[in-house]
Amino acid sequence: MSNAITSEEIDHARTLAAEADRVIVKAGTNSLTDAESNLDDDKLDKLVDDIADLLARDKEVILVSSGAVGAGVGRVGYTGETVEESQALSTVGQSQLMRRYTESFERYDRKVAQILLTQHDLENPERFTNFRNTIETLLEWDIVPIINENDAVTTREIRIGDNDMLSSTVAVEIDVDLLVTLTDVGGVYTGNPKEDDAAELIEAVGRNYDTVQSIIDESSTGSFGGIQTKVQGARSVSEHGVPAVIAKSTEPDVLEKIAGAKPVGTIFLPINGVIDD
Ligand code: GLU
Repeated sequence: MSNAITSEEIDHARTLAAEADRVIVKAGTNSLTDAESNLDDDKLDKLVDDIADLLARDKEVILVSSGAVGAGVGRVGYTGETVEESQALSTVGQSQLMRRYTESFERYDRKVAQILLTQHDLENPERFTNFRNTIETLLEWDIVPIINENDAVTTREIRIGDNDMLSSTVAVEIDVDLLVTLTDVGGVYTGNPKEDDAAELIEAVGRNYDTVQSIIDESSTGSFGGIQTKVQGARSVSEHGVPAVIAKSTEPDVLEKIAGAKPVGTIFLPINGVIDD
C-alpha cells in the first residue's frame, strides 16, 4: 500500500483544523525577537493580530510563548554564560514579554494571563488539575492564557526542555482541537530550507511519518531551528486524534488561513481522522 496521502484526506484534516473551537498557538523565540535579541514589536503585534482573528471567530486561544531568555538577553545586553545567568535573563525577558503582550492585546480589548509551568506541574495530578481549572476559568472569562516554562526555577533534571513538548503535552491534556506551531522555518521540508533551495514543503504528515522522520534525521543540523521537536510534538498531538499545523509565523494572516481551511505549512493528520485506502 502506498503511504501517499490523498488530497481528500488533506482536505478533511484542514476542515477539522478550521472547525477547531479550542486552539493552542505556540510561538518560538525567533518569531518574537530581532537579530539583536530584542523583543520585536512588529513581530509580537503580528502574532497578536493573528490570534485576534481566531478570537473574532469565537474560538478559545491558549498561547504558548517562548522568548523569555531571548528578550532578556536583548534587555540586559548580555548573552549569559551559565545556566544561572540564563535563568536570571529569563525573568527579565518574561516580564517584558508580558508587558508587551498586555499592551498588544489591549488593542483588541482583550486581557491576558501569565502561567509559568515546570515538569513537576505536568506530572503531579493535583498540580495539573489546578492548572487545568485555572485555564478553564480564564477561558470562561474570555482572557487569553499565555504559558511559558518557569525557566527561573527549573534545573536540567526537571526541565520540560522546550516549548514544543510543553505545548503538545498541554494540548493533549486539556482537550484542545488544534495545535499550531509557528516558526521561522514554516513547515516540514524535504531538506533544510535555510541551506537547500531545492527543499520542498511536505504538505501533510500521516502514514508517511516514518519517511518524513528519516528525511528530518538526515537533513537536520544545529541551525535547522529545532524542527525535530516540532515534528515530535505535532505527531504526538495527532496521535491523540487532534490535527496539528507547523506554519511560518511571518506568513500573512496565517491563523485566519488555517481557520478558513486554506493550505498553510505542514498539517499533521489526526490519526483517527485518516481515511484508510
Ligand atoms: N522557555 C524558554 C524561553 O522562554 C524557551 C524554550 C523554547 O524555546 O522552547 O526563553
